[in-house]
Amino acid sequence: MSPRRAPRSPDPPDLPNPPDAARIGLAGLDAGPIERTFRVEAPGESLGALPLPFEYVDVEVEVRRADGAAIRARGTLDAGAIVECRRCLEPTQIGVRARWAALYRPPGRVTPGEEGVWALDAQSAELDLAGPIREELWVNAPAWVECSRDCPGLCPTCGVRLAEKACRCPPPEPDGRWAALEGLGGASEGASEGTSEGDIP
Ligand SMILES: [Zn+2]
Ligand SMILES: [Zn+2]
Repeated sequence: MSPRRAPRSPDPPDLPNPPDAARIGLAGLDAGPIERTFRVEAPGESLGALPLPFEYVDVEVEVRRADGAAIRARGTLDAGAIVECRRCLEPTQIGVRARWAALYRPPGRVTPGEEGVWALDAQSAELDLAGPIREELWVNAPAWVECSRDCPGLCPTCGVRLAEKACRCPPPEPDGRWAALEGLGGASEGASEGTSEGDIP
């Protein structure tokens, strides 16, 4: 029998199973709606692939019975992430807030592609909210982030963060190919430019 050795190649870290962070127990649902407020830590591990590296998602939810063995869940979410500014690459704190709603039906009564409808076995003792929360984060996450509305970004030559200090780099050399294109454009825009200049005394 060969001794066990540590693997040479880096294996994936020995993570515990994804926490059931977004599950709601359904005991007591027949007596009335269930309300919960909870925080999902490390959402990327428990909710599946997310559009941004969220650090947490705070969830408020109300769960109640609906018609025909269906269960309705609705609430709010408030997620935080730190994302690079697309201009200056500075880590920037952002928040994503949304209202959400989901309908859970027995698996046989879920039409593929139907929006906001999820399958739930009639015998299931808990509701998994990961699907709707993940979907809402994808819908509401910004496509890009800027640290401020007028972030001047980085100098393309020396890389200095222009919001912090100015640099002495000469303005970038105009690209000959763009200059040629601008010349072409100028010919057709000449008339309108003349008009606007005429407005300035
Ligand atoms: Zn910035
Ligand atoms: Zn520079």
